[in-house]
Amino acid sequence: MKRELCVPCAIELGKTKEVTKVGYRREKITCAECNRRRFGGLYEVKRQRKEQKQ
Ligand SMILES: [Zn+2]
Repeated sequence: MKRELCVPCAIELGKTKEVTKVGYRREKITCAECNRRRFGGLYEVKRQRKEQKQ
């Protein structure tokens, strides 16, 4: 699913899930994870990583 996330949350989610950035630029969004107005972007979040990235 697509979610608007701030950068710290995207990094945090990326540890356990597959997170791919969809937007091209940073903009002010309301983070779906921490519910704060922050700079972030639109990310495609999948339930699990397909493979471990290095
Ligand atoms: Zn956040």
